[in-house]
Amino acid sequence: MKRIALIAHDHKKAEMIAWAFENKEILARHELSGTGTTAKLVSKETGLKVHPYLSGPLGGDQQIGAAIAEGRIDVCVFFWDPLESQPHDPDVKALLRIAAVYDIPIATTKTGAEYLIHSPLLED
Ligand code: PGA
Repeated sequence: MKRIALIAHDHKKAEMIAWAFENKEILARHELSGTGTTAKLVSKETGLKVHPYLSGPLGGDQQIGAAIAEGRIDVCVFFWDPLESQPHDPDVKALLRIAAVYDIPIATTKTGAEYLIHSPLLED
């Protein structure tokens, strides 16, 4: 079982929900968490249990970054929006940085997330 964090910026939330729905059976075998709104939407639309951190702009990205640093997250699926600037851009950058520092597998696109979720290493 892996501890997977889910984060999607506003214009990417529909994509995240669709991806989570398609991979519901696999995701159900893992422990899920996410930034506030993403977690609630994925939970509501798929029925999966997703622990909600604070909403991203209110500190959720930083909480997930801290959880990575403390070894409480194994995998991150982060659909960030490359076409819109975010008020919490420093937090987004910090999360990407800390994920790299701790060598956390992180997918930032739907195709990347597909490769990650179907990797045999996920069950390792
Ligand atoms: P949200 O946060 O899931 O609470 O919208 C995502 C983000 O913008 O980092």
